[in-house]
Amino acid sequence: MVSVSLSGVTKHFGGAPVLDDVSLDIREGEFVALLGPSGCGKTTLLRLIAGLERPSGGIIAIGGKAMAGQGTFIEPEDRNLGMVFQAYALWPHMSVKDNVGFGLSVRKVSRPDRARRIQAALDIVGLSGHADRRPHELSGGQRQRVALARCLALEPGLILLDEPLANLDANLRASMQEEFRRVHKKTGTTFVFVTHDQAEAMALADRIAVMDKGRIEQIATPRELYERPLTSMVAGFVGRGAVLPVHIVGHADSGRLRVDIGGRVLEMPGVNGTARGWLSVRPEHVEITQTAANEEQLPAIVEHVTYRGGLYEIGLALGADRKVKLEAHAHEPVSPDCLVGIKLKKGWVLPAPDLH
Ligand code: ATP
Repeated sequence: MVSVSLSGVTKHFGGAPVLDDVSLDIREGEFVALLGPSGCGKTTLLRLIAGLERPSGGIIAIGGKAMAGQGTFIEPEDRNLGMVFQAYALWPHMSVKDNVGFGLSVRKVSRPDRARRIQAALDIVGLSGHADRRPHELSGGQRQRVALARCLALEPGLILLDEPLANLDANLRASMQEEFRRVHKKTGTTFVFVTHDQAEAMALADRIAVMDKGRIEQIATPRELYERPLTSMVAGFVGRGAVLPVHIVGHADSGRLRVDIGGRVLEMPGVNGTARGWLSVRPEHVEITQTAANEEQLPAIVEHVTYRGGLYEIGLALGADRKVKLEAHAHEPVSPDCLVGIKLKKGWVLPAPDLH
């Protein structure tokens, strides 16, 4: 297992930067997910680590050794890493064990050593009983496991995975997520996993680097991202809930911030910042009742309601010009045009200097 370090990495393909001053330290044996919307630069970042692209600026090191930047460039095959892609690209005419051993033959690994490593890799992914099958005799999930075994057989210190589960149906995806987690634990190899699916990143990663427009917005554990997002993009992209604009009007003795939302002042913990803030609230901390609002509640008018399996997405008007969208568990049915009371039991305020 090896560490990965990126320092001030930029990448242009001619025009505007696709990656802009990205710095990231991944520890030995860590499972890190790169998460972000389509086009934010996740795959480009992974390809730079792999050596399939050269950075326009900055330094990339693997295992403490410079791989790219400042006049250095180490070829992908000399970086001691393996890659698993969405398209598993197995050789259709070869058996599972020959597919898994292919990279070892290319590297001229001796026959006995090759057999041992193929067996070990197939054991890890639970496919030793299928060594003589051809890819077309396997399910999609099994084929992806062969692709993972092919990568494990090389015994790399680092495994890079680019949306490897994107082609699989939801059930298979969930069981393969467990499989990846188990393989990671068993091998102790450093994993860097690209996904645009926040639930997948949460389920898999020790830490998640949330990316947007070529930059890393925040890198933290899934729990920290959920409970303590540092930007409104992270608050909105990771987990469900709502991000509401608030006015920070002071501090309470408890050190919490006093925020004005829709004319009511609430106390919430948060990052001490500017006069404006975003209040990030999660569905489990929102209570919506049909009764007229009391002191603790914000009065609002329901504009629309969509059921989202266990949760409702509710569009609300808080006063004349403030519209918000909340995801909440509604214990009582709510319908458009109702006057409701919203109680926010918990939230987290982050600075929003650019909010007007
Ligand atoms: P997705 O989830 O859709 O795969 P991503 O976050 O992985 O997106 P990238 O594939 O890294 O995003 O692409 C980031 C941006 O860089 C996109 O705007 C893309 O068009 C551009 N880009 C990527 N590779 C190249 C290339 N070889 N030449 C020119 N532009 C590129």
